[in-house]
Amino acid sequence: MKSQDIRAKFLEFFKSKTHQIVPSAPMVTKNDPTLMFVNSGMAPFKEYFLGNGTPKSNRIADTQKCLRVSGKHNDLEEVGYDTYHHTMFEMLGNWSFGDYFKKEAITWAWELLTEVYGIDKDILYVTVFEGSDEDGLKLDQEAYDLWKEIVPEERILMGNKADNFWEMGEQGPCGPCSEIHVDIRSEEEKAKIPGADLVNMDHPQVVEIWNLVFMQYNRKADKSLEKLPAQHVDTGMGFERLCMVLQDVKSNYDTDVFTPLIREIETITNVKYGTNEKVDVAIRVIADHVRAVSFSIADGQLPSNNTRGYVIRRILRRAVRYGFTFLNKKEPFIYRLVDVLDNKMGKAFPELKEQKQLIQNVIKEEEQSFLRTLDQGLVLLDRVIENVNGKVVSGKKVFELKDTYGFPEDLTELILRERGLTYNEEEFDAALKIQQEGGRKATAIQADDWVVLLEDEEEEFVGYDLLEVDVRLTRYRKIETKKEGVQYQLVFNMTPFYPEGGGQVGDKGYVETSNGDVIYVLDTKKENNLIIHITKNLPKKLNEPLRAVVDKKQRERTAANHTATHLLHQALREILGTHVEQKGSAVHSKYLRFDFSHFSKLTVEELRDVENFVNSRIEGKLPLEEKRNRPVEEALADGALALFGEKYGDTVRSIRFGKSIELCGGTHVQNTADIWHFKIKSEGAVAAGIRRIEAITYDATKEFYFENNRAYYEIKDVLNNPKDAVKAVTDLKDENAKLRKQIENLLKDKAKNLKGELKNELKDINGVQFLAKQVDLDQNGIKNLAFELGGEIKNLFLFFATATENKVMLTCYISKELVSERGFDAGKVVRELGKLIHGGGGGQPFFATAGGKNPGGIPKAIERVKEYVK
Ligand code: ATP
Ligand code: MG
Repeated sequence: MKSQDIRAKFLEFFKSKTHQIVPSAPMVTKNDPTLMFVNSGMAPFKEYFLGNGTPKSNRIADTQKCLRVSGKHNDLEEVGYDTYHHTMFEMLGNWSFGDYFKKEAITWAWELLTEVYGIDKDILYVTVFEGSDEDGLKLDQEAYDLWKEIVPEERILMGNKADNFWEMGEQGPCGPCSEIHVDIRSEEEKAKIPGADLVNMDHPQVVEIWNLVFMQYNRKADKSLEKLPAQHVDTGMGFERLCMVLQDVKSNYDTDVFTPLIREIETITNVKYGTNEKVDVAIRVIADHVRAVSFSIADGQLPSNNTRGYVIRRILRRAVRYGFTFLNKKEPFIYRLVDVLDNKMGKAFPELKEQKQLIQNVIKEEEQSFLRTLDQGLVLLDRVIENVNGKVVSGKKVFELKDTYGFPEDLTELILRERGLTYNEEEFDAALKIQQEGGRKATAIQADDWVVLLEDEEEEFVGYDLLEVDVRLTRYRKIETKKEGVQYQLVFNMTPFYPEGGGQVGDKGYVETSNGDVIYVLDTKKENNLIIHITKNLPKKLNEPLRAVVDKKQRERTAANHTATHLLHQALREILGTHVEQKGSAVHSKYLRFDFSHFSKLTVEELRDVENFVNSRIEGKLPLEEKRNRPVEEALADGALALFGEKYGDTVRSIRFGKSIELCGGTHVQNTADIWHFKIKSEGAVAAGIRRIEAITYDATKEFYFENNRAYYEIKDVLNNPKDAVKAVTDLKDENAKLRKQIENLLKDKAKNLKGELKNELKDINGVQFLAKQVDLDQNGIKNLAFELGGEIKNLFLFFATATENKVMLTCYISKELVSERGFDAGKVVRELGKLIHGGGGGQPFFATAGGKNPGGIPKAIERVKEYVK
């Protein structure tokens, strides 16, 4: 069965069990401080398990793009070495939100695997949670009894807390799970060791394919468990592993998900997969990593130097390194695999197809720049090797190469080994540990349990219409970070505060208690669907009503910038073309930033056109046409722009100003006239094929023009207030050029006169035409003078000293015939005499210079050079 059909069959099956089929959420997470990337199928549904939202259906199934390269689930170092862990993979899943529980989950999983896919029952094993003394939990008898009805008892195995108790994080929903494992070894192998002994033992052909999690507890901050009010099912099946079983191969990489990529790598690099283990690892690493990187870019995460971006950069660099070291590829080639990937997966994941060009450009540029780093690193490493005492290189140095220059330690090790050297790994580990601990401490966050004051209050956001409203505190918790110290997170029954999201900053403001105490809201964020107000303290009385007030001025400025961002987006697509895609935005109160795909720098005319376009929309006084809760299809049919990597619900909010229509949850002005004016401040590149514009609006433009005006009057003042300042400056420049020319001519004359004088001062010492003198000429003049004299006079030996306020220079010129016949050396002369002026220098035997700081040494230098010639 082809992989496409395997995926489709899964979804079909659960549709027939009345599940709603939803598309994969973007792999890059938003509004979740504990997770950078979606690492399991349940991550996009976290808010439902936490009870902070209601799903559109209580039965859902999908295939979810997952990335396991950081945090709790990090498989990066395994990838390539084994045949069944990937960085990016698809997790097929079915969910029950407070609906069905263990019985259906277990029987359907078995039905799908054995009847629909036709997997032989004899190769399957299942596990059941055995209990845990630590948590006071017993065997999951319910699951055991259900399995016993369909699976022979010797195939039901006990699993411990590590394998069979699933937790979302340090805190939150959790519960026992049952896993399904396959044994795809040959009959011969099976005869030697029973499969039951190899389950959960990291055997490459006895692997877990599906995990059925039964969420029934909540883990609290003090580690104790409480029962959840409703029970849920969360299952996850590795799509690539399922393909391996159904396509009857022994490795995920031998399925049709990977073979086209591997064939292409073979063609490009001229190697064969399956002949040499090291080469095979490299090929698997590259085939895997190109998927992770491509899907991340498609979901809006470019490689960069901070957090998420750096994770992606590291994955790509790992692939480059394996190609560089084991496939001998010294030029970019990974980007060439994107075509093949698109062919394979573009249909199921259209974001890949639509952004192929961008993905290729970005990967290619990253490859190029890392290959340069590798080259540089090799040079630096050579220097380290030259200076090594004995056979062991300092671990600190190796760490420095990695940390400062991005040169990886395993490559260092390889190169050292080739030269019979090693490095001190303990020293390296120690340096690494210090760095990691530093990083961890800075971000360490300690969160208490939520204290819930009012149950069942659905938090309502009223900030589109109101900036001030009476609220009640429904829950709060204390958090502590290294950076900010103790803070509180407050949640209200309703709020006018906009939480950071969609590129727009969170609102600031305050809440006021009935007796007039004011608590400042420092920031507002959204976390798993809760709107969280961050404060330094708590209200004294927790149960009394509060007045929540948003900082109006900041909100107005932010709204002006947000609406301007939409107009800018429209302008760019009109003026540059519809290839322009939004690639990120930051809407602050002081400025806006907009990143977009476009291949070249914007010309001055284009920038002016964009500015004019936006300003004409502002002058056009376009009213806001806002529609809330419309079906997403309807909004799209209207021509609304949706963004890649954004997770939209079934109903959306559309924001329209004239012909600009976008799906957007941000806050906007009521009329474009409220923006006042739009001014671009800068335009530049962020990555290959991605440009960035920074701009200001509203009162920031007033300030900007005011500042410029002030500077203008200051300049005029300096120029004695001419009528026409531009003409005054141009005149000054012209005059300056004229004067410079005059000075040049004067200097030339001076040099000519000097030349005549100096000729007369030459002394014959043993056949050498000798002169040593302090002169008043610039360095260029001296050089010209020396070479001109040298062209006219044979056997010449010149030594000049000059002294200006901050520099003393010595220059020595010696005719070539003196150098070759009498062994004079100008370089030696200035090196030696340079010491007298407290400096140094060098050059060639016929011409050399030295610079120093001590003019007092000049007479002595002249004396000494005379003696030298004699
Ligand atoms: P393993 O022990 O094999 O690493 P896991 O316990 O980490 O698996 P879960 O977190 O339960 O796996 O994920 C559910 C399913 O997703 C697994 O049964 C497996 O089929 C698949 N899966 C997990 N990690 C990966 C990975 N890195 N690459 C591909 N598939 C994976
Ligand atoms: Mg794992």
